[in-house]
Amino acid sequence: MLNVGKIEEGFVLDHIKAGKAMSIYHHLGLSQLDCTVAIIMNARSNIMGRKDILKVECPIDSMDLNILAFIDHNITVNVIKDGAIIEKRALTLPIQIKNVLKCHNPRCITSIEQGLPHIFYLADEQEEIYRCKYCDEKYSETDADFVKDSHSRN
Ligand SMILES: [Zn+2]
Repeated sequence: MLNVGKIEEGFVLDHIKAGKAMSIYHHLGLSQLDCTVAIIMNARSNIMGRKDILKVECPIDSMDLNILAFIDHNITVNVIKDGAIIEKRALTLPIQIKNVLKCHNPRCITSIEQGLPHIFYLADEQEEIYRCKYCDEKYSETDADFVKDSHSRN
């Protein structure tokens, strides 16, 4: 396998669905953080056929990984410290997603008032359904429109 440098401290996000790495890069706000990122696309995978891998060198508590679970909870998160994997982290769906998804209801207050935080809450954990906190509009992946490059989320 292609080896793109060794990480001292950071994350290796493995088993990303092929083609999704750039989207994850944006969701995590990596363009705004001072960290080195290696994106490996279309790597061979025995399980998945093709997959993407994202290597991020950064202090491990500087990044909120909850959003990954929303994007794809099959991603494997390896936490690296002192050059070794210290933890394989399981992903859990975030209870609330702030400033990542955008509500598509034209009558929603977030569509009318600029500057309001876009907040979605986990309405159904089994079905992985998120709804707008303000108008209860269901988020559907088909009209995916993300709040670009935002990294102020809790
Ligand atoms: Zn709404």
